[in-house]
Amino acid sequence: MTPRFSPTPVPSVPLDLGAVRAQFPILETRVHGRPLAYLDNAASTQQPRQVIHAVSDYHQQYHANIHRGTYQLSRNATRMHDYAREVVAHFLHAAEPAECIFTRGTTEGINLVAASWGRANLAPGDEIILSALEHHSNIVPWQWAAEAAGARIRVIPVDEAGELQIDEYRRLLSPRTRLVAVNHVSNALGTINPIREIIDEAHAVGALALIDGAQWVAHGATDVQALDADFYVFSGHKLYGPTGIGVLYGKRSLLEAMPPYQGGGDMIEQVTFERTTYAQLPNKFEAGTPHIAGAVGLAAAIEWLQGIGFEHIVAHEQRLLQHATQRLCELPGLEIKGRARHKSALVSWILVDPPIGTLDIGMQLDLCGICIRTGHHCCQPLMDRMGIASTARASFGVYNDLDEIDRLAEAVAAIIAGAQSHPARTQDAPRPLAEGSRGAPVNADHYPLASAASPAAAAEEIAELFGLLPDWPMRHQQIMDLGERLPRMPDALKTEANFVPGCQSRVYMAARVRPDSNGVIEFLADSDAKIVRGLIALLQQLYSGQDAQAILAFDAPAFFTRLGLDEHLSMTRRNGLLAMVERIRRIAAQHGG
Ligand code: PMP
Repeated sequence: MTPRFSPTPVPSVPLDLGAVRAQFPILETRVHGRPLAYLDNAASTQQPRQVIHAVSDYHQQYHANIHRGTYQLSRNATRMHDYAREVVAHFLHAAEPAECIFTRGTTEGINLVAASWGRANLAPGDEIILSALEHHSNIVPWQWAAEAAGARIRVIPVDEAGELQIDEYRRLLSPRTRLVAVNHVSNALGTINPIREIIDEAHAVGALALIDGAQWVAHGATDVQALDADFYVFSGHKLYGPTGIGVLYGKRSLLEAMPPYQGGGDMIEQVTFERTTYAQLPNKFEAGTPHIAGAVGLAAAIEWLQGIGFEHIVAHEQRLLQHATQRLCELPGLEIKGRARHKSALVSWILVDPPIGTLDIGMQLDLCGICIRTGHHCCQPLMDRMGIASTARASFGVYNDLDEIDRLAEAVAAIIAGAQSHPARTQDAPRPLAEGSRGAPVNADHYPLASAASPAAAAEEIAELFGLLPDWPMRHQQIMDLGERLPRMPDALKTEANFVPGCQSRVYMAARVRPDSNGVIEFLADSDAKIVRGLIALLQQLYSGQDAQAILAFDAPAFFTRLGLDEHLSMTRRNGLLAMVERIRRIAAQHGG
């Protein structure tokens, strides 16, 4: 097989969006009975038939372990893997394929550089510059590297628009700076960073630059040589390719000087028990059997993308961005986060008036078949800087159309209208669930009483009610209704000690043993997300006012599965729910369990 290099064609005809969409089988699916509007492309893009078939053909006709086989099948698989690397090198405009290391993704690429380059090059007093826009995967590995070496992390601040403050960056640079690691595009706000300038400034003080290209490579042409990037990383699954495959580009001289990252097969030249010498690039950094099918799929994705042409992609996605910004801006009480002059096709927002938690926005949009992302987007320092816990984010790919954006805007408008027409329901609506406290003002002395004889009996009642609701949208509505009726927790109880970590929204829980009781546990809890308030109401119904031993005997995870929560709540949310259960169980165990 001779590697084919198809130069990126200059498109002369407009993008045929219908033809592009037709290549994505998943776009034909329906969610909750509605056509899918997939607007979470910054998390992962969908895969066109060309990629799906390339991976499937590989498995059906070509699979064998690479490099070692004496037989034709293995030689062919090796050639396919080599070819994939050549496609990647051409795509990034690397000087040679050996500078492109296959990884599991962006995260692994950064960890590789931080561990390997960091170990060999960082010393006490050295500085690494990151930016306030970074994803956790471009923060945590550097914290480890800095800690191990006694080096220090400096952070480029971001302004109100979500742009990096380049003057501040210049002030941070010094002869102590060893490396600057920034993203090409912010996954939380969409800001396109001036990385050419950032790299040049880093080089001017003798520092290296690593660029996290996770959010760029599918949306614009990349030329690592023109950028003069020292390292550039990206993931296949944000580029219309498979998960579990990504690329670390590094300049040959740097990669050659770096110690290997992992030890194992394929990365060695010679092994004795006394000493090991290492293979040449790229194998030195690819220990063990690689994700061959992933590399094949990634190459197919790149070729597919090149077949469309970035000129088309950029024009189309900028139109989507403009339309989405305009439609969302029209909505009352919606505040867009991230107003950079150069933005990728991504809109982040919060609803402030009336305040509606991003989690609730995401779950309600899901019921309309619209997939967006809510949360901190793995950018907690940025959220802290903006003084918010999360945003709702719609991010676009080449297959999205204006109709999907209109559907999004209309659905968000309906969420706002729903909250406006029930202002009391989104704010305080003291209607305690449990009998004894009904009608009473809610304060620290009014914890809900037991709703049934035991948690198991309460669970039966809840399950019976949920059993009458035929589908998830109706069960979701039931949980939301419970959330609306949950009394607000007094602010005095929203203390640090009562904060429950591990939940995506802010959750507080004040649990205690009822005074003068024999181990009866009761609790109040609250959250800024209505869906979580609904889950809290369920927990209160199950647990509050119950005996500690009965609480410990109750199998909550099995009950949540029975209600269908496993299937419909994200992992983070399930973990949040379990964190609340854990807190109640801990108190029960301490007191009479
Ligand atoms: N950096 C950025 C800017 C990202 O958007 C992401 C994914 N959200 C990552 C790094 C991590 O990518 P992966 O999970 O594919 O390793």
